[in-house]
Amino acid sequence: MKLSFLGGGNEVGRMGILFDNSRERFLMDYGVNVETMDVPLDPGLNINALLLSHAHLDHAGNIPSLYHRGWNGRVFATPITFELCEMLLRDSMKVQGIKGINPTYGLQDILKMERHKAGMQFRHRRVFKSAMVEFNDAGHVPGSASILIESQGRRILYTGDIKFSDTSLMKAAFRDYDDIDVLVIESTYAYKNHPPRKEISDRLKDIIQGTVYGGGFVLLPSFAVGRTQEMLMVASELDFPVFLDGMGIGATRGILEHPENTRNAKLLKEAFGRAHKIRSMRQRDMALGVPSVIITTAGMLSGGPVGYYIRRLYNREDCSLILNGFQIPGTPGRTLLDTGRYVYEDLDVKPKMKVDFLDFSAHCGRDEIIKFVEDVSPGKVFLVHGERSDALASILQDMGFDASVPKNGDVVRVD
Ligand SMILES: [Zn+2]
Ligand SMILES: [Zn+2]
Repeated sequence: MKLSFLGGGNEVGRMGILFDNSRERFLMDYGVNVETMDVPLDPGLNINALLLSHAHLDHAGNIPSLYHRGWNGRVFATPITFELCEMLLRDSMKVQGIKGINPTYGLQDILKMERHKAGMQFRHRRVFKSAMVEFNDAGHVPGSASILIESQGRRILYTGDIKFSDTSLMKAAFRDYDDIDVLVIESTYAYKNHPPRKEISDRLKDIIQGTVYGGGFVLLPSFAVGRTQEMLMVASELDFPVFLDGMGIGATRGILEHPENTRNAKLLKEAFGRAHKIRSMRQRDMALGVPSVIITTAGMLSGGPVGYYIRRLYNREDCSLILNGFQIPGTPGRTLLDTGRYVYEDLDVKPKMKVDFLDFSAHCGRDEIIKFVEDVSPGKVFLVHGERSDALASILQDMGFDASVPKNGDVVRVD
């Protein structure tokens, strides 16, 4: 039996891992790098099933291209993952069109994927000819799963993106695993720990209070799936107007249709009900008439309505822009953090508005990865989905674990 690392080796973005037990082939995730649109190495079309951990495009963004090339297999994911993923794929297709990129699939391929979906519930086993597959809650975004494959007496766990502590939106991941032989774990933050969530939420509330009382706007560029909902819940603990713009509106609606996938759907529903949803340019201008909190896509400033708000507000010292998620190198968000300049389309400026980064990560931190590896105590550990994971691999080796950071194209035996 072997694992092939097709994407996500020493990088964040474009995940893809192929498990082959010589009778069947399972592809776990098949994403894109949302900045470069790079895709994982080609798994071929001889795939028996695609197991999708969650909706984010770095895990799901290239699945329709398989259908485009004639694949007819099924995709296994939680129902809410399908709903969110279809929304993100349609949007991605539009964005590629705007950017003049030739997409690797069309709407008919997304529709074909929809016809081939197979719903997974957490803790339920699905039996294939040569393997058993189980999904467990990964606590990263609504519907996100860790994937456990059992085959020929071996247990292989791929965590997907995983969060081991509670947030306002999500319960912490399921982590009670026994007898794992091979652990493939995400390592986005192999090099650092995250501050306690409460501390960072309080900090956000302080900034909102100071800014809005001072007559300014707080701009929260947020990923549509997961972060938008958490920002909404934190912001609505204060009594200020909250505006919601972009794809986060549809994503929140979809998430509320599956209340069991969040920690407190009632609170989310209330916060969503109170927020003003923006659907037109006129409403956008109206939102800028009263000091408020504006939550909008894109989380890394690469598209979405956020550019409109930045254009209007960047010269105002009384306003705040708070990045609150992972910023892929090359995105306007990362550039802004690294250089203090906002470079997007025809604009290259040094904003006067305050720019902050708050670490609201939906991923585990270094010490949590170490603790999880200790608890699970697998025979082999592969650190994927990280750009700076080598030092952590050394720490794990010193602790006696067979740990490594695979490169794209690596094939390892897991018998
Ligand atoms: Zn993710
Ligand atoms: Zn990811």
